Amino acid sequence: MPELPEVECLRRSLEPGLVGRTVRRVIIRRRDIVSSPGTTGLPVGVTIELLQRHGKQLAIIDQLGGAVIVQLGMTGGLFLSDAVRHPPHTHVVWVLDSGMRLRFIDARRFGGIAYAPEGPGALWARLGPDALHIRADVLRRRLNGSRRAIKAALLDQHILAGVGNIYADEALHAAGVHPARPAGGLGHAESRALAGAIRTILRSAVEAGGSTIRDYRDGAGRAGFFQRRHSVYGRGGLPCLRCGRALEKCLIAQRTTVWCPSCQPPVDSG
Ligand SMILES: [Zn+2]
Repeated sequence: MPELPEVECLRRSLEPGLVGRTVRRVIIRRRDIVSSPGTTGLPVGVTIELLQRHGKQLAIIDQLGGAVIVQLGMTGGLFLSDAVRHPPHTHVVWVLDSGMRLRFIDARRFGGIAYAPEGPGALWARLGPDALHIRADVLRRRLNGSRRAIKAALLDQHILAGVGNIYADEALHAAGVHPARPAGGLGHAESRALAGAIRTILRSAVEAGGSTIRDYRDGAGRAGFFQRRHSVYGRGGLPCLRCGRALEKCLIAQRTTVWCPSCQPPVDSG
């Protein structure tokens, strides 16, 4: 499942081929993938001005300020190529004045495309702040008073946008915070450590091209390499890379959670 780093890599890989290009034609092959209230489809004749990302969502902004907002879901992807034949599970195709075609491909169809003529602002205001730039004081304020497990709170896109299962486990391990601790119980130093770990881990994952779990690819079909650097994700039962103790595994918010019993003690050890 693509998380923030994969979406950011996708944004960066697509931007050079999309910015300044005019959409000549839009082919919607599966209508239930697209929601565009008030219009009959997606805009044609517009020129793409920039690509923005908030959390795990990507927006293609045109020169009129309208936004095509893309949710990748579990298996969605955007691919830019000059191929004329549509690969399997191609749901939407944008034909550009450059002759290139941008395709939204999604085998399991948990993703989707939404058109917002007024831009992504209203939709994104309902999400938490973007995790790539999260500040400790902002994180602490958003967790304040919460009795939920910190892991569950980090996965909640209304609290913080962009952290999913992989990077939640990695950040909690790096910060030495037990995933079942009440989110509102973190002290100043712990909030600082956690916010710092979230930023650092997301940034290095972006630099590594994201994590390729199952079938993630960027806009040019390239795989990422961050999965080779995971410290805890997918490593339940294996030795902690920091202290050597066997990593434990449980379910939090219905998601597999891996942590180290000595690096991440269950209560604040002071
Ligand atoms: Zn450890």
